Amino acid sequence: MNILVLGAGQLARMMSLEAAPLNLNVRAYDVGSKQVVHPLTLHSFEQTLEEAIALVDVITCEFEHIPDDVLALCCASGKFFPGKAAIKAGGDRSIEKALLDKTGVPSAPYKLITEKQQLIDSVSLLGLPLVIKTCQAGYDGKGQWRLKSLDQLDEIWSEMAEFIAAGTEAFPHTIIAEKMIPFNREVSVIGARDKTGNIAIYPVTENQHTDGVLTLSLAAEIDLNIQQQAIDAFNKLSATMDYVGVLAIEFFDVDGKLMVNEIAPRVHNSGHWTQQGTACSQFENHMRAVAGLPLGDTKLQKVSAMINVLGQASISKKVLSISDVKSHWYGKEQRAGRKMGHINVSAETNAALANKLLQLAEILPEQDYPGIKSTAQRLL
Ligand code: ATP
Ligand code: MG
Ligand code: MG
Repeated sequence: MNILVLGAGQLARMMSLEAAPLNLNVRAYDVGSKQVVHPLTLHSFEQTLEEAIALVDVITCEFEHIPDDVLALCCASGKFFPGKAAIKAGGDRSIEKALLDKTGVPSAPYKLITEKQQLIDSVSLLGLPLVIKTCQAGYDGKGQWRLKSLDQLDEIWSEMAEFIAAGTEAFPHTIIAEKMIPFNREVSVIGARDKTGNIAIYPVTENQHTDGVLTLSLAAEIDLNIQQQAIDAFNKLSATMDYVGVLAIEFFDVDGKLMVNEIAPRVHNSGHWTQQGTACSQFENHMRAVAGLPLGDTKLQKVSAMINVLGQASISKKVLSISDVKSHWYGKEQRAGRKMGHINVSAETNAALANKLLQLAEILPEQDYPGIKSTAQRLL
């Protein structure tokens, strides 16, 4: 079976690595260069998108900001999963919020903004501080403002107004103001839903961000109540969208109550640990779901952590001398802060994982790889 993935980054790459043993062949479409490429070598197939769509059996994606014309072509073929509703909700925060409201899944109180008065109103409605986000763009915390006091309002509004003015009738730009949630921690859940509605959900993952970018994820024993809240949200949201594939949901944990931050209609950075913490990774399960194969086991087999490699072209080879530590490089050109790869580490017990993390902390400097040591200390 042949699968086309929209997007030719690391997520398509890791999907293809898991697809091959299932006898699934992946090609990727780079929406920037408009080339159909091999997901590992990025070698061009010298094919148009239309030709690739006609040739493959299934189409899926590694990101949600898919140009409308590309999405329309893919949907018209009847081969595209997870489906249009999911991409629209994942790519526009106002549609995402409407979905969350409709399904009754809790999320941060908000107000949509296109005019200055609405920004002023949102302060009285939601209070300060506010987290303000562009609805149609933004990842890794980009395209966001923090409004902490009223004297920042004019300055922030002028930047917002510039963004709104760059929109067109066909592609309007809108802004959302959210109440700043005083969370205890951030967690996410990754799950897969197949074409007949069967669901397999991984254990909730705890995520640490640094300057808006995920730096470390931890998958260990999870409180059953938290897991159940995450499962409920996954079931409701995936059923409403008639979702097929892997879906990620990011949450704020506020004193044991989960509140959705955002959803991602795809495999997700906070699920990379599943490559070695479970019998069937998120990448394999996504391939299975869209190809119509049975979903694989999502149980936690080993407690695991994932450490992002941001902006570094290499790491000391000593990390690979620690047992159950693996590196995953994305084959990308080095750029400051860029996601270049990740490191997975697993163990049988929390104490053993802590021990390996402490060894890693000796090798990987805190300034480039924050939170390894403190995570180890919490596990002990
Ligand atoms: P991603 O790369 O995960 O797609 P993004 O750019 O879409 O990121 P968000 O996940 O919406 O951005 O926000 C980035 C981070 O900002 C969150 O992980 C969280 O730490 C913080 N944040 C966002 N919204 C709020 C909020 N309403 N209250 C408190 N913190 C928030
Ligand atoms: Mg996002
Ligand atoms: Mg996010």
